[in-house]
Amino acid sequence: MDIFYPYESKSKKLMNTLKIKIWGSRGSFPITELNESFGGETSCVEVRTSDNDLILLDMGTGLRNFGNSLIKEKSNIKDINIFLSHYHYDHILGFLMFVPLFIDKFNINIYGPGKSDDEIKTKFEAFLNPSFWPVDIDMLNAKINFKHYSSGKIKINENLQIITCKHGHPGGANTLRVEFDRFSVTYVTDCEHPSSHLNQNIIDIAKGTDILIHDAQYTPEQMPKYKGWGHSSWEQCTDLALQAQVKKLVLFHHNPDHSNSMLEKIEKDAQSKFTNTLSAREGMEIFIPKEVLEAVI
Ligand SMILES: [Zn+2]
Ligand SMILES: [Zn+2]
Repeated sequence: MDIFYPYESKSKKLMNTLKIKIWGSRGSFPITELNESFGGETSCVEVRTSDNDLILLDMGTGLRNFGNSLIKEKSNIKDINIFLSHYHYDHILGFLMFVPLFIDKFNINIYGPGKSDDEIKTKFEAFLNPSFWPVDIDMLNAKINFKHYSSGKIKINENLQIITCKHGHPGGANTLRVEFDRFSVTYVTDCEHPSSHLNQNIIDIAKGTDILIHDAQYTPEQMPKYKGWGHSSWEQCTDLALQAQVKKLVLFHHNPDHSNSMLEKIEKDAQSKFTNTLSAREGMEIFIPKEVLEAVI
């Protein structure tokens, strides 16, 4: 599915457009049933700039399909920058089947929350413990750089930076705002807001963003039952979109127990509160033409 934004025209895919692609939109656990429309792979979002810089937000099971697609590309991409919101399995499982790890031309930077680069590497060594998985880090051919981040700015190059801030989730998770030229996408997943109001830090970081991708695991009716589980309702997403004055809202981290029809109803309900809303569907692409990126606003 192609979605052109902010122009809805079906005009040809332009070269040099910025692209956002959803490789996995499901939360908590991958599913294989009920997945024709929204998909069953877990959290993984590609942000590809018009300069062909590559940012991946989380590496849930959707990362496998991204990797298989990347190695078929005729591009010269060598650097893959992966930002992890946190380390829960549904956000890292794709690492196990990420083909570029076995190809020596790739330089894979994995940015994770923590206090030191070694801390991140240690987590992945534990993840690849031979009791649970047959491949260890020394068997991977790509150059893997484990990099830590804490709240603040990470500059990838002159045109591209990521701003992060912590938010509420069991064990903590992080909001990631990717800024490229004048465009921004803000990724907020595995996020529980305080019960009486929205997290002001997230409103601030998402302010005016072009695209807000936000955890919509529950309906408002389900929220009281799942207090403390670390997620949001679609209604909190629309409230945040309004308060932060975002341009487009993408509902994300779908509950593995929600059927397609339920997710379609959630999308409709959310659109009644914030018109420019979509539910993330696996394979969905959002393009922003270069002339829009370069337009003087
Ligand atoms: Zn999750
Ligand atoms: Zn989580």
